[in-house]
Amino acid sequence: MALNPENCLFCKIITGDVPAMKVWEDAHNLAFLDINPLARGHTLVIPRTHASTIDDLTQDEAGTLGRAVREVTTRVENGLNVRGTTIAVNNGRDAGQEVPHVHVHIVPRRAGDGAGPIHDLFKGNAPDVSKEELEKTQRMIRDGQ
Ligand code: AMP
Repeated sequence: MALNPENCLFCKIITGDVPAMKVWEDAHNLAFLDINPLARGHTLVIPRTHASTIDDLTQDEAGTLGRAVREVTTRVENGLNVRGTTIAVNNGRDAGQEVPHVHVHIVPRRAGDGAGPIHDLFKGNAPDVSKEELEKTQRMIRDGQ
């Protein structure tokens, strides 16, 4: 989809109307520092076309975004001298997404930083599921296309 600079903050970053601390870019994607970092070096990677969520990307856009994330992750880890990163997408408002232009968070991690694995998001709320329930879920996702 084309850019939507009237309504979209990250489209404005792409057009240069809003400044950003760019760390990497190519023809399809752009990476810049998060203005409110969860850790030093917290970086966002965005596609240059407007899409609200991952599901709105074309397969090609999703492919180049995946390659960009891989490239930027290496640069974040080497540049910040860390051996781990949490890579995450808040995909949709229900998942906590605040800026409705696809962005992948790359957050540098250090042993003992206290943030824990992504599983901690669901601590205490994860369901107990039977094998039958897992099989039913498997069918639902398989048929979900
Ligand atoms: P999300 O909740 O996944 O939509 O995350 C949006 C992220 O964008 C947050 O981590 C914000 O700190 C970050 N953010 C918002 N405005 C800017 C900006 N102008 N430049 C860089 N990062 C931003």
